[in-house]
Amino acid sequence: MTDNHPHKRKDVVENLKKSSKVEKDTSVKNEDIILELETKSVMISDQAIKAITKFSIDAMPKEAIGLLSGKEFRPKELLINKGLYVTEGEEYSVSFSDKDFQVFDQLTNSEFCVGWWHSHPGFGLFLSQTDITTHIFSFQLVQPLSVALVVDPMDVGKDGIAKYRVFQVIGDSRKNLFRYNEVASYLVVASD
Ligand SMILES: [Zn+2]
Repeated sequence: MTDNHPHKRKDVVENLKKSSKVEKDTSVKNEDIILELETKSVMISDQAIKAITKFSIDAMPKEAIGLLSGKEFRPKELLINKGLYVTEGEEYSVSFSDKDFQVFDQLTNSEFCVGWWHSHPGFGLFLSQTDITTHIFSFQLVQPLSVALVVDPMDVGKDGIAKYRVFQVIGDSRKNLFRYNEVASYLVVASD
């Protein structure tokens, strides 16, 4: 089963509207949401992770937040080609606006939004409850392959690359249980 829909901005906006509606009106009956690990592995270009490291260092002590551009180079295997900067913020104000996704209108070929990244300066590589909600409604429900990359700009190696981990969310709304699961990731050095 391969679902190749690009991550379209309109879909994201629709999902954001739905998620905020649910928050405001708890009587809205949700459809059951069942999330499984869709992405087998992720290859990350060193250019992308170096850019994300730099954005994250520049934003410190605040968190930096952005989007990931890439493609599905083999079924259920992603290549993250670029890390795009969106804004800085605090843990509990992580959000994306309609405008933030406009950058993907300019992408060509098979590149689409393969997820998002944000920094946790010095407090560990994981997804908070807020991060999990953001990931479900703005990313994984829109594009099942979407990943969340978390980076620690206070832990940067000699190669100029911060420690990072890549996640997807798994779970079941009927049990009201969602948790993050790590996705295997590999660094690739661009040859050109
Ligand atoms: Zn976070």
